[in-house]
Amino acid sequence: MDKTIPVKTYISETEAPQYWYNLRADMKEKHPPFIHPGELRPCVAEDLYPIFCKELVKQELNQTDQLIPIPDGIQQFYKMFRPSPLIRAYSLEKALGTPAAIYYKFEGNNTSGSHKLNSAATQAYYAKQEGITSLATETGAGQWGTALAMACDYYDIDLTVYMVKVSSEQKPYRKIVMETYAAKVIPSPSPTTESGRKILALDPNTGGSLGCAISEAIEKAVTTENCRYVLGSVLDHVLLHQSVVGLEAKTALDKYGITPDVIIGCAGGGSNLGGLIAPYMGGRLQGKNNIQFIAVEPQSCPSFTRGKYTYDFGDTAKTTPLMKMYTLGNGFIPSANHAGGLRYHGMSPILSKLYNDGYLEARAYSQTDVFDAAKLFIKTEGILPAPESTHALKAAIDIARECTKTGEKKTILFGLTGTGYFDLMAYAQHNNGTLSDKVPTDEELQAGFDSIPNLPAKFSD
Ligand SMILES: *Cc1c(COP(=O)(O)O)cnc(C)c1O
Repeated sequence: MDKTIPVKTYISETEAPQYWYNLRADMKEKHPPFIHPGELRPCVAEDLYPIFCKELVKQELNQTDQLIPIPDGIQQFYKMFRPSPLIRAYSLEKALGTPAAIYYKFEGNNTSGSHKLNSAATQAYYAKQEGITSLATETGAGQWGTALAMACDYYDIDLTVYMVKVSSEQKPYRKIVMETYAAKVIPSPSPTTESGRKILALDPNTGGSLGCAISEAIEKAVTTENCRYVLGSVLDHVLLHQSVVGLEAKTALDKYGITPDVIIGCAGGGSNLGGLIAPYMGGRLQGKNNIQFIAVEPQSCPSFTRGKYTYDFGDTAKTTPLMKMYTLGNGFIPSANHAGGLRYHGMSPILSKLYNDGYLEARAYSQTDVFDAAKLFIKTEGILPAPESTHALKAAIDIARECTKTGEKKTILFGLTGTGYFDLMAYAQHNNGTLSDKVPTDEELQAGFDSIPNLPAKFSD
């Protein structure tokens, strides 16, 4: 009977979502508000307007509208690379000998090679609407910078990307793609900003960090006329934009009357997972389903599984508003041998709240286990997955293997967020046996926790 379901299901353009789904509207308990770090009070829109585009600030603070219309211009942009395929992994199922059905939503079919373009297209669109002439951002591995470079090129907005210096040296090809889209890529720390110069004065040979690149990008945004800062994950408005992933998946599966038993996503800052699960989690919160939701993270950066649920800064330089989230501490830096992505110290406040309230589970895997799963996947499904996506894949394989033992016919849906063609050095290390696992000790984690600010007791309920 299963074989009546095609390998690839594309919904038609007319079935594509016309609204983003704002999961917070259906959360009876909202996550605690951002706190202004200087004045220790909840942030209001005016605090955020100098940094972010107005419409994005409104979306960030919107907890009531369940459906938010996707403007026509953005729907047109999405048509370039959406709808993305929903794929039934028959070949992988066969290799596992499992009675489970495995589906994945593949977001790698665009030049950024990931889901990040869903939010980049949106953020650049609003910037254009509001007369913003340039944007500034940071990028680590480079997917976000690449997605935003394409979006800014499309809307004719100047873009400066502060790229963590070690990454720009290790991944020169990403830099070339961004430059091909006319973005200015500056290895960070750089002498072009006050914060960059300070860090360089302390250590001229530093390889940089995401925290430092964020500080440079924010400084650039607030000191340049008509410039704003944009972020590619973590924030509520980014999860909102990514809801198109879950809405498309649900439209496709509903056609066959299928509701997944398990939905799995990798979790860096939480945007792809938040987007994939959004409509289904909304149903669960309304008592309409009993789906198991699983976040998967690397053992070397275990925000959910070993982090603390507390207020922390979003960046190492301690410049952002304070967010209540699962965090390893803004000073946490994952081991240098970690090649698997998902390196952010914190986590989406929405997902943090759901995890804390028991609606979301989390697992952590070692990077060698994750690359083993990728090897099985390239043989059976013909897609070279991004190391990030492979975390979700590994969990799907583990659950399908359990079904092989128990005979259970679970339906599993996971997010295949992108392709790994710029991560081939990590594949090479796995091929020649030099990829290793480095799991932080409790003492190492404590050093990160020590960087978490101490707030008055009223913020720690
Ligand atoms: C950025 C990225 C992730 C992780 O980010 P989230 O915000 O947690 O989704 C996962 N996969 C790919 C391919 C990415 O580029």
